[in-house]
Amino acid sequence: MKYIDEYRDRGSIEKCSQRIAEAVTGPWTIMEICGGQTRSIAKHGLESLLPSEITLLHGPGCPVCVTPQSILDHAMEIASNPEVVFCTFGDMMRVPGTNTDLAHIKAEGGDVRIIQSPMEALNLARENADKEVVFLAIGFETTAPANAMALYQSKQQGIKNISFLVSQVLVPPAMESILNSPHSKVQGFLAAGHVCTIMGFEEYEPIAQRYQVPIVVTGFEPLDILMGIDMVVRQLEEGRHEVENQYSRSVQREGNLAAQKILNEVFEVIPKQWRGVGEIPSSGLGLKSVYRHLNAALRFPQKIIYEPLSTNCISGQVLQGLKKPNECEAFGKECTPDSPLGATMVSSEGACAAYFHYQNFQA
Ligand code: SF4
Repeated sequence: MKYIDEYRDRGSIEKCSQRIAEAVTGPWTIMEICGGQTRSIAKHGLESLLPSEITLLHGPGCPVCVTPQSILDHAMEIASNPEVVFCTFGDMMRVPGTNTDLAHIKAEGGDVRIIQSPMEALNLARENADKEVVFLAIGFETTAPANAMALYQSKQQGIKNISFLVSQVLVPPAMESILNSPHSKVQGFLAAGHVCTIMGFEEYEPIAQRYQVPIVVTGFEPLDILMGIDMVVRQLEEGRHEVENQYSRSVQREGNLAAQKILNEVFEVIPKQWRGVGEIPSSGLGLKSVYRHLNAALRFPQKIIYEPLSTNCISGQVLQGLKKPNECEAFGKECTPDSPLGATMVSSEGACAAYFHYQNFQA
């Protein structure tokens, strides 16, 4: 399959791994931002193909993992309302809120539907005219345009019984937050290819310059990731700190202008809470005032606000690259994909789940 098979070719992968080994002279710590890349690294055992001088850290780019517990609590409160049809993507169903998850709300009689596209929420609203339809709109720049289009179409079509519980996050401010931490060990980044497919990569250039870190826009297949690492390593070895594009078959410098236009139509940049991390300035997208009538948080104000539970889960540190999943005491013991204590063990893009499934885990 074009653009897939050649990026899984064993010979090319071995050659790239060899090139990296020949280029490395010192210890380098590189973070892959995206949970999809973390999964690919774990699934294909890519760390075992790297020289010992290279340490990979796993970043905050799992949309399910960073959605705040308070949003999930609010989602469950809304989904428990008998007047509501609540819709979401499947991987949100088992993410724990403070007391329960959406799967349990559904089992207890809540009308919770799994949908594949935000536009399906509009159809549900038309089919359920006597109910309120609420869509949980989460994710990074990748999912934001489709959510924005659903909001735009809802407004254009004057659909009265739909609203959106929005929790959209942005990657570049999270990278800056990581680099601003005095504990950060990150010396170079693999930037998430699909985010850059939407946004391009111009916005990474000031970060590369300000923090003197190489940033390489990288795809998701094993060879993509090794090529991205190779490009970061070469910059580090040469003392450069530029933005380079390994994923040129999908990413252009300016990104997808039509997608950016719909984002700008619907959303504005706001401060945002990240689960386990805290508030990061200018790291979220909120609804512009002309879309206020479609804001589920206003239509269904949250009645119960829980105090965060004290827990041994260190997923916040995992998301910031400060700890690896197997450094968590609960990993594979109290916390497994069947019984997750944190969101990073739930999502297929979560680092804890990736380690559990692919790193020859032994209980
Ligand atoms: S293994 Fe479980 S408890 Fe530990 S950080 Fe990951 S999600 Fe949290």
